[in-house]
Amino acid sequence: MKRVLVLGGGFGGVATAVALRKRLPASDEVVLVERRTSFIMGLRKNWALTGVAPFEDGQRGLWVLNELGIRVINGKVNEIFPADVAVEVDTERIQADAMVVALGAGRNRKAIPGFEEHAIDYYDPREAQRGAAAIEAFRGGRLVIGVFGAPYPCPPAPYELALLLAERFARDKIPGGIFVFTPQPGSLPILGTDACSAFDGRLASAGISFRPRTQAVSIEPGVVVAADTRIPFDLLIGVAPHRVPGVVAQSGLTHGAPWVHVNKLTLETAFPNVYAIGDVTGIGLANGMALPKSGAFAHAEGEVVAARIAETFAGLAPSAVYDGTGTCFLETGHGKAAMVSGSFYADPPQVTLSEDSVANFAAKQAFEADRLKSWFGW
Ligand SMILES: Cc1cc2nc3c(=O)[nH]c(=O)nc-3n(C[C@H](O)[C@H](O)[C@H](O)COP(=O)(O)OP(=O)(O)OC[C@H]3O[C@@H](n4cnc5c(N)ncnc54)[C@H](O)[C@@H]3O)c2cc1C
Repeated sequence: MKRVLVLGGGFGGVATAVALRKRLPASDEVVLVERRTSFIMGLRKNWALTGVAPFEDGQRGLWVLNELGIRVINGKVNEIFPADVAVEVDTERIQADAMVVALGAGRNRKAIPGFEEHAIDYYDPREAQRGAAAIEAFRGGRLVIGVFGAPYPCPPAPYELALLLAERFARDKIPGGIFVFTPQPGSLPILGTDACSAFDGRLASAGISFRPRTQAVSIEPGVVVAADTRIPFDLLIGVAPHRVPGVVAQSGLTHGAPWVHVNKLTLETAFPNVYAIGDVTGIGLANGMALPKSGAFAHAEGEVVAARIAETFAGLAPSAVYDGTGTCFLETGHGKAAMVSGSFYADPPQVTLSEDSVANFAAKQAFEADRLKSWFGW
């Protein structure tokens, strides 16, 4: 009997655990450790905040995975021992033959003084209700969506939120304006200068003001303070700076770097039989940028890791590799979405932004529904 530990029951962790369960014999154990009791995709946050669809419709209890033969432990990973392929969950030490670290990116609100007091921490699922209520109560003025640090998960998400809110405010005749800022040189730098400028133009035509290269340093009542400007707001929705979770940083898996370094093809860390996938990793691209943090990539990486572990356990030379291709959706409002897709490992990366369409929005809805069905049965 062999055991695989999957740390984190988010996008990548659930995908990996399900793929492992399908590939490994029933005698092998797949253990998923997650501090939360339920799963939800990040894309639900935009829908919940803007009233497109309720948060709860996309929520699934992780306990369901036990019925598939995955042992779900609802607990907190307190310490990771990568050299021993072991972990401490609450007070229990669990040893394994292989381990997949899928603990995601943690938020660091304290890095921006005033963030906790004045901003809605929009990437925190616990803030969804507060955020939705604040938007519902918003009767006009200046709504600011601020990106307070990069990299952050799902680079298009703050722009999707802006476009969806612009649609809603126009419909409800809410006066005022939407202002978005980011420390990055453009909205979506991975697209390259021309496509990025074209998308910036799209924001402008939706009436959204956009300011790149804006590093906020603190927030005072009603004002974001940046290095070179002050940005007044009536309502502030923020993407907090992100960082590797503390338990991962302390484990030695980052070797002092901001994110876990992995072999970009195999997702192996420097420790034998220990893999890392998804937002916790930092994968460099040929143009000096990093692979965007996205659920679609975490899923694809998880499939590769599950295949490699199954091959290794079967005594075969592992052959599965991640080729760096993938697609993320960029919702543009009015029931449409565009697609950011390409070959991210190409030199230079070949990434394009498609036209938006109703069909692409249907594909985004299916992206969620198909995965929920195949992982949780409904
Ligand atoms: C608003 C928004 C919209 C998005 N839209 C899309 C989209 O349309 N398409 C797309 O592909 N991606 C989208 N994403 C990005 C996507 O959600 C992330 O990239 C993805 O969730 C990363 O998967 P992961 O498994 O690496 O991390 P996560 O899904 O964050 O999972 C990490 C898990 O680890 C758990 N954890 C952390 N520390 C511990 C601990 N110490 N003990 C136990 N458990 C722990 C966490 O609770 C969490 O469940 C969106 C994100 C946001 C915020």
